[in-house]
Amino acid sequence: MKTAIIVGAGMGGLATAARLAKAGYEVFVFEGRNQIGGRIGELRRDGYRFDTGPTLLMMLEPLERLFSDLHRRVEDYLELVLIDPSYRVYFGDGTVFDSSPNIARMVREIARKISPLEVPGYLKLMADLSAMYHAVVPTFVRKQYDSLADLFSPYQVDLLLRHRLLANLWKRVGRYVRDPRLRMLFSFQTMYLGLSPKEALWVYGVLTYMESGEGVWYPRGGMHKVPHAVAQVAQEEGARIYLNQRVAEVLVENGQAAGVRLASGEVLRADVVVINVDAPTAYRELLPPTRYARRNFKNSCSALMFYIGYTEPLPHQLHHNVYFSRDFEQNLYELFVQNRVPSDPSFYTCLSNRTDPQDAPAGCENLYVLVPVPNLTGEDARAAAPRVLETVIARAGLKRERIQFVETLTPHEWQALGLWQGAAFGIAHNFFQSTAFRPSVRTPFRNCYLVGASTQPGNGIPMTLISAELVAERVLGRRSRKA
Ligand SMILES: Cc1cc2nc3c(=O)[nH]c(=O)nc-3n(C[C@H](O)[C@H](O)[C@H](O)COP(=O)(O)OP(=O)(O)OC[C@H]3O[C@@H](n4cnc5c(N)ncnc54)[C@H](O)[C@@H]3O)c2cc1C
Repeated sequence: MKTAIIVGAGMGGLATAARLAKAGYEVFVFEGRNQIGGRIGELRRDGYRFDTGPTLLMMLEPLERLFSDLHRRVEDYLELVLIDPSYRVYFGDGTVFDSSPNIARMVREIARKISPLEVPGYLKLMADLSAMYHAVVPTFVRKQYDSLADLFSPYQVDLLLRHRLLANLWKRVGRYVRDPRLRMLFSFQTMYLGLSPKEALWVYGVLTYMESGEGVWYPRGGMHKVPHAVAQVAQEEGARIYLNQRVAEVLVENGQAAGVRLASGEVLRADVVVINVDAPTAYRELLPPTRYARRNFKNSCSALMFYIGYTEPLPHQLHHNVYFSRDFEQNLYELFVQNRVPSDPSFYTCLSNRTDPQDAPAGCENLYVLVPVPNLTGEDARAAAPRVLETVIARAGLKRERIQFVETLTPHEWQALGLWQGAAFGIAHNFFQSTAFRPSVRTPFRNCYLVGASTQPGNGIPMTLISAELVAERVLGRRSRKA
């Protein structure tokens, strides 16, 4: 029986473990921390439960595909709930808008809160994004790239031109909807990738479509249920997962992966090694020196997090809420151009106890706050955290005496998770770090692969699941099928 070692039990590592175990490999997963899931973490304190990273489950297809490839049904492991309205938006001018994947509700909301004249533009935008999404995912996303030539087949070039994939997202959304609030609403999703909507390519409108078209889902019990479900399947297939086992080095002999050396000094040999550590960190710290270790990747921004135990209901907030800066363009400029903690930052809040009441004591709220801030190359978000918290308190209308506790997480903690420069969302999604230009799942060493957010196809839970598909295909010698 062939053996595979997976370094890291993030989403990509666990999905790869499940796929290889199902294919008959003896699989060992070594996770450096005391919990699985990586960025899909969980915090419990004083009767409250918080997801610490992702809160939005979108694009269910890769998750469904994983379970069906493993001859299982998602619904036997996870109870997925559609969150509708997806989120409540607080614009800087005082407008409060509920965004929904339900077209009838959305049409009504746009007509009432913005203008009936904007409705045709919204409908056309959704239609065009839907067409692009369904063309792009099988052609550019779920795609093995062996060379740049794999980016320029006649069909791909045709799609590129037909959908104008390389146009600017911000400018083009502004041609569908004139109102600045709607323009923000239909383009800010690139910030989930740590990318400014003003710098993003039109192709990243697929994120808008995932959210506004397919909707936002939530696994009852919390986001960490997703990696736990995948880990359960992997273990049912025979994979073994070891916690608190940091890998210090990936061993390479004659240009081929030979195993790993744990931080304890123990050496374990394997036929295949799959690294679920952030790609720049893997190349710099785990693998023998190559030119990839010197590649100066551009990183995404990071996230300043507050997990607040709050002892009074916040009836004006939904499960998900977005607070836009009073000057969104200035916010983007300060964050992405000046690399500063914005003076009036936009932020996102989540109250999972809206859907899972046991996540907070009765009458209390488990308030999760995510503020996009620079990674460790920019202004120190740890120092700015008290000021940012004041903004959150003021904008969200919190009462100081109702704050039972605040747990804070900064880019320094994201760095401790292995994320280079503390970039919470991994390497950036600019043109030269997307598709074929993004680090491949293959490394320069035979039988040694990368999986996860900083490799192809990119960041986000669905993308890391596709990344695991690409790795499994490479290891097992099976090539891409159509989506
Ligand atoms: C604040 C935040 C919010 C987000 N929100 C969303 C969202 O709403 N929806 C969404 O789809 N995505 C979201 N994302 C992105 C999503 O979390 C990631 O894309 C995804 O979880 C990354 O998975 P991964 O496979 O790259 O592994 P990671 O999560 O990066 O896990 C890697 C694992 O490797 C381990 N490790 C590192 N070094 C070693 C070593 N030397 N030895 C052993 N183990 C090691 C780490 O401890 C970790 O467990 C968010 C991310 C953040 C940070």
